[in-house]
Amino acid sequence: MPSGVQTEIKTYQIHINGEWTDSKSNKTLPVYDPSTEEVIAHVPDCNAEDVNRAVAAAKAAFEDGPWATTTAQERGRVLFRLSEKIRANLASLAELECRNTGKPIVEAEFDINDAATCFEYYGGLATKVVGYVNPVPDNAMSLSLKEPVGVAGQIIPWNYPLLMAAWKLAPAIAAGCTCVLKPAEQTPLTALEFAKYFSDCGLPPGVVNIVTGFGETCGAPIVQHPDVNKIAFTGSAAVGKIIVKQAADTVKRVTLELGGKSPNIFFADADFEAAIDGALFGVFINQGEVCSAGSRILVQKSIYKNFVDAMSEKAKKIKLGPPLERETKMGPLVSKEQYDRVNEYLAVGKKEAKLASGGGRPEKIAKGYYVQPTIFYDVNNSARIAREEIFGPVAAVIPFDDEKDALKIANDSPYGLAAAVWTRDIFRAMRAVKALRAGIVWVNHMQPTYVEAPWGGYKQSGFGRELGPWGIEEYLETKQVFINLNEQPIGWY
Ligand code: ADP
Ligand code: MG
Repeated sequence: MPSGVQTEIKTYQIHINGEWTDSKSNKTLPVYDPSTEEVIAHVPDCNAEDVNRAVAAAKAAFEDGPWATTTAQERGRVLFRLSEKIRANLASLAELECRNTGKPIVEAEFDINDAATCFEYYGGLATKVVGYVNPVPDNAMSLSLKEPVGVAGQIIPWNYPLLMAAWKLAPAIAAGCTCVLKPAEQTPLTALEFAKYFSDCGLPPGVVNIVTGFGETCGAPIVQHPDVNKIAFTGSAAVGKIIVKQAADTVKRVTLELGGKSPNIFFADADFEAAIDGALFGVFINQGEVCSAGSRILVQKSIYKNFVDAMSEKAKKIKLGPPLERETKMGPLVSKEQYDRVNEYLAVGKKEAKLASGGGRPEKIAKGYYVQPTIFYDVNNSARIAREEIFGPVAAVIPFDDEKDALKIANDSPYGLAAAVWTRDIFRAMRAVKALRAGIVWVNHMQPTYVEAPWGGYKQSGFGRELGPWGIEEYLETKQVFINLNEQPIGWY
């Protein structure tokens, strides 16, 4: 093991109003290293009472604290300092993320760096939020002003823990909101470590509060709380639907990013080597635990057989192993629950389609929630493994005849987060870009994600956009101001 690896089992506290505190439940929940199946930490198992405390702190900070009068410049500088802190602690944060999620260390380093970039981006954007003068046809001045939406409840998943926290917190802070963040119960550690930087970076108490716990006992109270003005959620479609319903009672603004079943489409004229690489990368990066995973691989019939052969040959060589080793390309899945879920889908897939490679545990690894990169082929688009999000290293390869056929299959999904198309024909690429019902479309690549560009889905992949200027917009209200410039009475009566 690399030196410096933390071995003692820490018990964390939650962060409310700038202070560290235990849950009122007096309970904790264990946090695991999925590569060893061992407990590495304990965190508070928060309940509604803890959420009430966190929301009260966020509300007070929004209304009465120094945050209410902090300028955009100052908020920007806080974000720059947070970004610098993350970069200064990149090695230890990446190691912790790697141990807790099971993702390869090289990917964890990339993610942490990306989180820092996100804070930096919104640090700059804080001072670019502007209003309008509306051209009303009267002797008056009509303005539209942007104001923070208030207290934001932010519920995030376990696949990119600190990065997802960054996508939510950075635009909220830039906008002047205050936050109650709940990391996923499986992966709360980097968010809690991150909270240790707040006071040094000049973030006033109560602006960002972090509670840990399960969805039903800690997440739902955030969604239902009348003093929470907005919910930003990234997670499963099933929970997204519950959240929309629960948020209705208090008419909360909601944004949802709910994953998908994204098509990665390969035409016969695509560069073959690049295509094989792109198909594997699209679906196996981060063990396939990616909302935009290219889990439906659509391949034109004329190259289909060679494609499946080449893909599975290469998939068999992907290096699975301890996440902290730098050569590792795939670690274990995040949890026993996820491991069981993916294994169920492997069983389903074996009945619905043909198996080209993988399909179970890697033989040589005794412990940990490892699953081989698995490729099913001759999959019918109506099969469960082509319709349901698996969130693991499982590819469904589907043959198609021509462009029309490909686009029809691609759009035949309840989801619409992302899609990719591989071809050397620019006209075909552009026709596909227009036809694909997805929030992100890549041409001759899959997965690059940039803080400057919008992220979010069509259809049941959710609504609202994160990142870029779109991301901050979701944390802003628009206020219309009318200033009468006539000094005379209205003269109506
Ligand atoms: P998974 O099934 O992969 O765990 P989830 O959608 O359940 O994905 O989890 C994403 C996030 O949503 C986590 O932080 C989880 O605790 C939270 N969550 C789960 N259920 C609820 C719920 N009913 N209300 C609010 N948050 C929830
Ligand atoms: Mg869950």
